[in-house]
Amino acid sequence: MKYGKGSLMVVGVKGGDPRYLSRHLMCPTSGIAYEEPEPNLFSFNSPYGACPKCSGLGQVTEVAFDKIVPDRKKSIRKGAILALGSYKSSWVFKQVEAVLENFGYDLDTPVEEMEDAVLASLLNGMDEPLRVSSNVGLSDRTVQFEGIIPFILEQAEEGPKAAQKWAAGFTHMVACPECKAHA
Ligand SMILES: [Zn+2]
Repeated sequence: MKYGKGSLMVVGVKGGDPRYLSRHLMCPTSGIAYEEPEPNLFSFNSPYGACPKCSGLGQVTEVAFDKIVPDRKKSIRKGAILALGSYKSSWVFKQVEAVLENFGYDLDTPVEEMEDAVLASLLNGMDEPLRVSSNVGLSDRTVQFEGIIPFILEQAEEGPKAAQKWAAGFTHMVACPECKAHA
């Protein structure tokens, strides 16, 4: 240990694979090293030991579907997506309209009459780029529709105070799936 500066290799008299031993928390074959263990590494509410997904809170924010679309009988123009409110001439509604048209619906279709894929696209976003007609005088634009849920989560986590409050109306706390997995 002394001559190897903390590492040594043991070879059996009869041969066989050598065994590596190290006083440093490092694996000599893979090179993976660990930090010196300290009490806070084992503490859920210390940044060192915390679960990376929930920062040790044990809970994560999840969007509550029923809070976003509480009444499926409504059309989107009438405010079926509570997070957006009723129709106004805005960029987000232009995009929503384009998503609906993509599936052959419009703003006046009651949500309950839409196939699940439409709502999924509205809430979670779309992979395919979407052509959105612009306001008068401007040419069409191609956008990647982000989806309403990612937007709400973004506001809940990083938005200004008022936006966080708004977002909180559509979310609830659930047990962190990562911590649950390790428990
Ligand atoms: Zn966690």
